[in-house]
Amino acid sequence: MQDIRIAILEGDDVGKEIIPATLSVLDTACKLVNLDITWVNLLMGTDAHNKYGDTYPKETDKELNNAIGIIAGPIGHNAYPRNDPSWRIPPLRKQFEMFASIKPIYSYKNLQSYKNNIDIIFVREVTEGLLSSETIVAGSAEYRPNDEITISSRVITRKGASRVAREAFKIAKYYNRKKVTAAHKEPVYRLSCGMFIEECRKVSLDFPDINYEEKLIDTTAMHLITSPEEFDVVVTTNQFGDILTDLGAGLVGSLGLAPGLCVGEHKAMAQATHGSAPDIAGQDIANPYALIVSSAMLLEWIGNKLKIDKANIVAKKIKQSVDTVIEAGVNITKDIGGNSGTKEMTKAIIDNLK
Ligand code: ATP
Repeated sequence: MQDIRIAILEGDDVGKEIIPATLSVLDTACKLVNLDITWVNLLMGTDAHNKYGDTYPKETDKELNNAIGIIAGPIGHNAYPRNDPSWRIPPLRKQFEMFASIKPIYSYKNLQSYKNNIDIIFVREVTEGLLSSETIVAGSAEYRPNDEITISSRVITRKGASRVAREAFKIAKYYNRKKVTAAHKEPVYRLSCGMFIEECRKVSLDFPDINYEEKLIDTTAMHLITSPEEFDVVVTTNQFGDILTDLGAGLVGSLGLAPGLCVGEHKAMAQATHGSAPDIAGQDIANPYALIVSSAMLLEWIGNKLKIDKANIVAKKIKQSVDTVIEAGVNITKDIGGNSGTKEMTKAIIDNLK
């Protein structure tokens, strides 16, 4: 059997709690089916800076080349010193061309959510757009020619737009979804959003069985509130997607319920939508759901890519156990209405694996 090598990047703050939680679930689930995975622990974030003077040291960078998958904790970039390039957000998505971030949100009937029939998969482009850490390999996409003016630039390419659109349609097909909505602002950003939409339209022609619609980004935000049940798969550009996916997490009740998988041709990375949550770090209250489900998504991706059925089975077992624990509503964290801590919820997920 092919070697499955997965790199683990703990990251900052709650990363130190949700990464060990996720690994303990994976370890038990893999043992149930005798699936061997080589786990490689690497430093990223403040610990990496303490040891190597860089939040993304070359030792980590080099090792990541050998891994097909990454499980990444969050980066506490909001607290990093400004104007010091050694405190950087690791450019993992850009470097390894993991261009699409797949973010499902789902409203569990027994949890408090905005509406109880939400089931949306967001597909966000994550290697270009407005976010400077993603668009630039040297220099900066943001600059200030004098103290009164700041300029940010946005990059949209045909290749970037086309491949994220194709991923959205492939996801729609794989999960038997009926519709893909492309969210944009072409009437204002005629060239950049214009190019994004042109490519979405072209790709949609290859998937005649899936409905395709276009919606302005502001209308999308409003309709996500008024009629979220009408959305199925939503594809959009980087910054718009960043905002919509947090909005999506809010719709189902917590950022702790928003998993994510960044995918490319050769590598994928499990990464929760939420950030490093320094306000709750070290208190055993972070919800481990998002990273655990993100990791199950990674194993499913690896199972499909390498044709290793056991990886798909492990993914399914983890998802079933997480659903059982959430639906029972007993061993769940405070953010979703429970009284349990991170460790207790993780133990319940492990105990329900079968
Ligand atoms: P970033 O800029 O890195 O995306 P952020 O500024 O959006 O981060 P988060 O760190 O995601 O902020 O936290 C936003 C809020 O959500 C905080 O109040 C935090 O405690 C809460 N939160 C985030 N993740 C979780 C979690 N796993 N469980 C419970 N609450 C969480």
